[in-house]
Amino acid sequence: MQTYLVGGAVRDELLGLDVKDRDWVVVGATPKEMLDRGFKQVGADFPVFLHPETREEYALARTERKHGHGYHGFSVYSAPDVTLEEDLIRRDLTINAMARDEQGELVDPFHGQRDLVNRKLRHVSEAFTEDPLRILRTARFAARFQPMGFEVCEETMALMRAMVADGEVDHLVPERVWQEIQRALHEREPGTFFEVLRDCKALDVLAPELVPESPFSAALAALRCIHRQQGSTEERLAALMSPLPEDACNARTKALKAPNDCQNLARLTVVFIPAMKSLASNQLTGESLLALLDAADLWRRPERFSALIRVLPCSLPETDRTAVTLLERAASAASGVSPKTLMEHGFKGKALGEAIHAERLKRINRALSQTPS
Ligand code: ATP
Ligand code: MG
Repeated sequence: MQTYLVGGAVRDELLGLDVKDRDWVVVGATPKEMLDRGFKQVGADFPVFLHPETREEYALARTERKHGHGYHGFSVYSAPDVTLEEDLIRRDLTINAMARDEQGELVDPFHGQRDLVNRKLRHVSEAFTEDPLRILRTARFAARFQPMGFEVCEETMALMRAMVADGEVDHLVPERVWQEIQRALHEREPGTFFEVLRDCKALDVLAPELVPESPFSAALAALRCIHRQQGSTEERLAALMSPLPEDACNARTKALKAPNDCQNLARLTVVFIPAMKSLASNQLTGESLLALLDAADLWRRPERFSALIRVLPCSLPETDRTAVTLLERAASAASGVSPKTLMEHGFKGKALGEAIHAERLKRINRALSQTPS
């Protein structure tokens, strides 16, 4: 049997990047031989094993054939006679389809190294069309490597367009889509992910409300801004969704099955954007600020409020950003109120609620009067 290092590790090493995890392919072995050598089998469907010491993944060389749509349509064939080349041809991009043998020689039947030098993301073969997830992966690698000059080559873009037109993207399950989006949001140029998806029309299926130029460019600008601040996943998704109307935002984050914290921050952000705009243009009162703090439930969700305060400036025009500063100042003034102290002073029930409100308002008004205008 022969063992090869494959995929991302080979690619990243050639690019001079840190190699995070290493994947291996084993040619000429049976599952029994692997188990006899102390490997542990993981996953019932695929012949993939964990090394007894390094815990790295060793997969038996395999081929895949597709019968229907989506994930259930794959049948996997693995046997000692499957060659390395047969295994590599089912991979997504040429730069991900290189291997290194035990002597350290590069095995590169699909010219991944050439594409690496020319900065091209290119599909390995027509088998690319068998898995629509590859569209998302390609967009994600574009987002990761765009700063190094990579782009999706025209032939691959054409293939992806054809897949979208054939309805392939309709079969992706939300969990897989969200997983890719979540990763893409943290790549080096997250906006590129959405640009690629828009170019191949996958975005018309995955988030059609973002497609028109005006929300699209606003979404990408907000995303770029929160990315510069190293925002969390929640903050990044909220920035991306921030140009949308509330209903569309809620429906989309739900359909994507984004985690609840992501859905909630996105919802709060789109509710607060018009509120910030009217704060900026109307006579500002302590009452209106306190109402917003109540709406954000600052009292029980201080961390979510901080996240909101980080996203809003990214999602608002320059002129409306002062309202966020005021909101933040009101929040820090009002959070000093201690319900416990008021209780010790004998307040309870409805009177306690009113006393808390009054004290918060007093402190906000005091802070506002000290605000240089
Ligand atoms: P990363 O740095 O994100 O780990 P990677 O290239 O190692 O990038 P993995 O998701 O770890 O990506 O997958 C390992 C390898 O398996 C890839 O390099 C690619 O060759 C192959 N691969 C993974 N998912 C797919 C897929 N859906 N279709 C085709 N090939 C895939
Ligand atoms: Mg990997």
